[in-house]
Amino acid sequence: MAKKKYSNKINKIRSFALSLIFIGFVIMYGAIFFRENQILVLIFMTVGLLCIVGSTVVYGWIGLLSTRAVQVVCPNCSRHTKVLGRVDMCMYCNEPLTLDPTLEGKEFNEAYNNREK
Ligand SMILES: [Zn+2]
Repeated sequence: MAKKKYSNKINKIRSFALSLIFIGFVIMYGAIFFRENQILVLIFMTVGLLCIVGSTVVYGWIGLLSTRAVQVVCPNCSRHTKVLGRVDMCMYCNEPLTLDPTLEGKEFNEAYNNREK
């Protein structure tokens, strides 16, 4: 099967939040190299902490989105997945799914989520 370039939105946001935590810790760890300079340490610690706080906010946002997402059974892998917006991908097998019957059978395009101009 050809590799699809799109992925499930909730999964995408979740991995973003995860990388934010990781970046936050790396930045805070970086402060060790500047321990001679208290101002730099303070800046690094603050930026690192902000990344971690930001990630917590993103996680909260995912929780909010999840409650608004529609739960469907994927026709491809028969697992329960969540669809966000008009078109989204299955969380498990990346099968394109749509809630709009007029888009059924059409080639997947993330642009369908944006309002028509
Ligand atoms: Zn699936």
